[in-house]
Amino acid sequence: MSLLRRIPGQYLWPLLALVGLCFGSILALLYVTTSSQDRMEAAREARTLTAALRTNVDMVRRDLQDYAMWDDAVRHIARDFDADWIDDNVTAYLGRTQGYDHVFVIAPDGSTPYAFSHGSLSRASAGKGATELFGPAFAESIAAVRRMDPAHSPSISGFTRQGDHFYIYAVAAVVPLTHKVTLPPGGKYVLAIANEVDGSFLTRLRKAHQLVGLTVRQDRGAVPLTDFRGRTLAHVDLAVRTPGSRLRDQILPGLILIILLSALVAASVVRQGGQAMDALRSSRADAVHNADHDPLTALPNRRVLLERVRVRLLDGRAVGLIYMDLDGFKEVNDLYGHRAGDDLLRAATVRIATLAGEDALVARMGGDEFAVLAADGRGHDASALAQRIIDGFQETFAISGANVRVGVSIGVVTTPRHCALTVDELMRRADVAMYSAKGRGKNRWHLYAAGMDTGHDVRKRLEHDLRTAIAANGIDVAYQPIVSAATGRIVCFEALARWTHPREGMIPPDVFIPLAEMTGLIGALGEQVLAKACRAVAPFDIGLAVNLSPAQFWDAHLVDSVARILKEEAFPADRLELEITENYLMRRPDAAAGVMEELRTLGIRLALDDFGSGFASIGYLRQLKFDRLKIDKQFVSDAAASGDVGEGAAEMLVAIVALGRALRLEITAEGVETQDQSALVKACGCHRMQGWLHGRPVAPEMLAETVARLGRDGDSERGGDGGQGDNLPLRNRAQG
Ligand code: C2E
Ligand code: CA
Ligand code: CA
Repeated sequence: MSLLRRIPGQYLWPLLALVGLCFGSILALLYVTTSSQDRMEAAREARTLTAALRTNVDMVRRDLQDYAMWDDAVRHIARDFDADWIDDNVTAYLGRTQGYDHVFVIAPDGSTPYAFSHGSLSRASAGKGATELFGPAFAESIAAVRRMDPAHSPSISGFTRQGDHFYIYAVAAVVPLTHKVTLPPGGKYVLAIANEVDGSFLTRLRKAHQLVGLTVRQDRGAVPLTDFRGRTLAHVDLAVRTPGSRLRDQILPGLILIILLSALVAASVVRQGGQAMDALRSSRADAVHNADHDPLTALPNRRVLLERVRVRLLDGRAVGLIYMDLDGFKEVNDLYGHRAGDDLLRAATVRIATLAGEDALVARMGGDEFAVLAADGRGHDASALAQRIIDGFQETFAISGANVRVGVSIGVVTTPRHCALTVDELMRRADVAMYSAKGRGKNRWHLYAAGMDTGHDVRKRLEHDLRTAIAANGIDVAYQPIVSAATGRIVCFEALARWTHPREGMIPPDVFIPLAEMTGLIGALGEQVLAKACRAVAPFDIGLAVNLSPAQFWDAHLVDSVARILKEEAFPADRLELEITENYLMRRPDAAAGVMEELRTLGIRLALDDFGSGFASIGYLRQLKFDRLKIDKQFVSDAAASGDVGEGAAEMLVAIVALGRALRLEITAEGVETQDQSALVKACGCHRMQGWLHGRPVAPEMLAETVARLGRDGDSERGGDGGQGDNLPLRNRAQG
């Protein structure tokens, strides 16, 4: 039964029929040939037997003829009947030597004047009529030979039957051979010899002709036993030799064995075939599943989702679609490796599926993008689900033994019933809404609105143009001087990326940096800025600060690529400072510490940028070994403002600087635009100042002029920033 299940009927039955036909044909062929051989053998033996009987009949006649057509016989039988003569001259040979059982003389009146049976003269037989002796055929043949022409050796031989006994006999009229004697008038004497067709006769016959098992049967047999007129008296049957059957009997067991073996082999082949078939079937099922499912998360893929949406739109049903992209997935992937990235995707899958519920279709659209087709299309439900997912992602994921937090940006699209949107348009809108959410700071959901389209299209175009600009090495760098608080002389330039769009003109970094981060272009952009900045600032023997995006910070190749650029540009590592904003580092402080340590090993210093704008905690600052804090410009402008705001902010500024100094960090105040602000930050104990008061970002051609204008802080700066900075060695020098 398992066979039937494994192999489809359309193959199994013809296969079985074929196998059956093969073996059936072989058996039938064997049977047909062997039985025809048997039949041929039987026919051959029957022919042999027929010939043997005829030969015997002829022989009996010939044996008798010479004695009946004999002048002496006429004299001693027909003329003067002399039993002794018969005894001596006829019976002596025919009866005693030739071994005929019966030798008779039948007189013209039908009596039997001489009877010799079984070796002795038989009184019992003597005198009997011919019919009584050997039956009617015998009697008829006596009458017949008497009528025959004496010149032609009148004799007849054949078989006859008397009761249950059969005889082979010959009768011959006693006639002269020559003309020396003449037959006396009246009827003719007849000589007769006979042998019973009994066991010994048959044995002799059998031996002489190499036949087997002869028997006389009344009913049927191989050869009829006929009288001289051709009438059937009985049959002689042959125990026919059956060489065909014997051959068959010899072959058959072997053949059956072969058939059984073949059947066994076939069964095993079929079973294996069946298993192969099962494997094939399951691999086909797998293939079907694979075509529809994402192998990593086992979620239905984009194709399936699009198809479901298409069907739903065609059915005129409402659609609620959620399209989401994980925020910070790339960082996890870069930081912990692809296996962790995979784990995260799987964990995110489980979380999304749980939040979405059983009736919704959750699909992986590729990369770190997922979509959920809400069970029913009411916009309220889709939006509520979007919010649930945002909330659900607040909880960290336990990946590779660490707790990782990733956010999610969601676009939501809903359509009413019977709406004419195509799937493509619906997906485009979901995409637009999702990018809108990402553009607004991630970890939020946006419902699609018509106005988003333009923004989306602009962003798409801008992304394309930015990609082109980066590829063409078209990102420029502006340099803003950073001065020593004590001397007001330049100690460092901060490199700031600039992009002049061919049509739109200047695009602010606040626009294209997030765009580059979001589209994976930030790595190339950062390398370009670093390389150009190293080359531009190298001749001036002052420091260089370069911004590092969080996306770059988690890039596994960051340290290598920084080291390579420094080498290529022959820029001393201890003149380079990398600025990192705090909020991203907080996600994985221990991992961040590792990357920072590698950078510091190169000799690079690290600054915490925009300090005060985010959530950096003191514990966190202690854990991450920065060299410098850059106090956010908002803080500085607030602190210098008049009124309550200013007072509060100023107190905090004092506290922050004190804290930084306690942590042995150098402190730079950003956004110093006025003399008041400058005085305030100096009074607070900041080591450096950066802002329009001292210089706006300038093109590389202006570097020399800027350095000349501000004056290089010179060697004295390298030991500290002079004044308060002198007794504060840079951390990495202290450690290095
Ligand atoms: P940031 O690192 O805080 O850079 C300082 C920003 O403050 C610069 O803006 C600079 O022009 C501005 N600024 C300097 N002094 C003053 C001042 O006195 N008053 C005011 N109101 N602003 C001042 P910019 O060049 O627009 O850069 C904006 C942000 O873009 C930078 O902030 C930085 O986070 C990012 N950025 C710029 N270039 C790069 C870069 O090459 N790589 C990365 N990853 N980020 C960059
Ligand atoms: Ca900066
Ligand atoms: Ca800053």
